Amino acid sequence: MRYVSTRGSAPDLSFDEALLAGLARDGGLYLPARWPSFTPDVIRSLAGLPYSEVVHRVLIPFVGKALSEDALRRLLTDAYAGFGHTAVAPLKQLDSRMWLLELFHGPTLAFKDCALQVLGRLFDHVLERAAQRITIVGATSGDTGSAAIEACRDREHIDIFMLYPKGRVSEVQRRQMTTVKAGNVFNIAVEGTFDDCQDLVKTLFADTAFRDDMALSAVNSINWARIAVQIAYYFAAAAALGAPNRRVAFAVPTGNFGNVYAGYAAARMGLPVEKFIVASNRNDILTRFLETGSLATAEVQPSLSPSMDIQISSNFERLLFDLYDGDAKAVAGAMAEFRKTGRLTPGNARWKKALQLFDGARADDDATLAEIARIHRETGELVDPHTAVGIAAARSKIELGALSDADTPVIALATAHPAKFPDAVERATGIRPPLPANLADLYEREERFSVLPNDLGQVRDFVRAHARCPAGRTVGAA
Ligand SMILES: *Cc1c(COP(=O)(O)O)cnc(C)c1O
Repeated sequence: MRYVSTRGSAPDLSFDEALLAGLARDGGLYLPARWPSFTPDVIRSLAGLPYSEVVHRVLIPFVGKALSEDALRRLLTDAYAGFGHTAVAPLKQLDSRMWLLELFHGPTLAFKDCALQVLGRLFDHVLERAAQRITIVGATSGDTGSAAIEACRDREHIDIFMLYPKGRVSEVQRRQMTTVKAGNVFNIAVEGTFDDCQDLVKTLFADTAFRDDMALSAVNSINWARIAVQIAYYFAAAAALGAPNRRVAFAVPTGNFGNVYAGYAAARMGLPVEKFIVASNRNDILTRFLETGSLATAEVQPSLSPSMDIQISSNFERLLFDLYDGDAKAVAGAMAEFRKTGRLTPGNARWKKALQLFDGARADDDATLAEIARIHRETGELVDPHTAVGIAAARSKIELGALSDADTPVIALATAHPAKFPDAVERATGIRPPLPANLADLYEREERFSVLPNDLGQVRDFVRAHARCPAGRTVGAA
């Protein structure tokens, strides 16, 4: 399997090359040159398999020669062994129509562990074989950071630098990053927004000399391998509820469009999906696109679901590539226009095409709190604010009759453990959800981080000063 850039002027890569590259050299994102397809029988056979086995079957067509089937199986078993639920991603029925797909049983209590626990191990496997070392630089609005750090900590072949917007991530999220005691982990609190952090990272990657010097790589959702691993839970959940014999719908709380794009990828591979309900908080660029056909940035507003406080959804470019029928030049042009003007209007036909599979809804903070309270009242479940945004969006669409088939089960993705956002949950229900035992002393652990201004030069110097460089050369002191 080869991977191509959405912007068409970077070289095609193999799976392991795309894994290490993250962002393409032309600023685009990597995509498989051809989609593998699963027959109805293959999809049916996934029902009830151990979770790591479903991931194995989904990944085989994507990984090519990067590792053997046996090595991949061992790696996956190991990656999911640390999860707090033996089913890894259990489905829980909420009411006659709606199901909760719990993706938060990993070490940092967010869905990002599902992919990143695999990714850290994939990196190490590939790097060890190549006797290489890499520098991971990422931007996080909260959950990616701790999940990436947990995936990379103490790995011999990786240094990790994590940029987060100072004062804009929850205390639990911050502490999950800053209390990790590992010599290869560097936390940077940037005086700016998440989009500023993401811009800094993108600009560092665009500097080819720096990028090559530091062997830069990414683990945020622009990395194709991460999307590939996430495809698995869409198949697993749908098969458990009767796919391919009946269609399902998914409600996905969305920020960078990575998670819901993985669902779209499952649909491209043959999973019969009626709709993806793209759920946003008040930072609703994607919902506005689906309502108006125009992607237009606005100021980022802080919300109760900070991991979705995003106005530039990087992975949307992967969908654009399909909306433009794989015309990479047109995508590059559209993205350049978007960069310049903050607006992108792909035209009526492409918008209609997007609406065949996607529908959008938003929930502001009041609606989020009301939803957390309602779910608790009616089902006894505590859900985190991100999950609540997804459920609220799904409910509003069901009430509007937006799903054509009245029997379609709706699977709402539960993306974080309620204890990760205890203030919001307590405000809504009066109950403060406790942290699981392995994190119980989080508030007593010592924090380590550096504060830097929103300044490219200073961030670049910091990385240069602290990273161990490729192939074991040591430059600067850690
Ligand atoms: C990252 C995150 C999201 C958004 O996921 P994307 O892939 O960026 O769309 C939603 N909820 C939680 C809890 C997250 O950590």
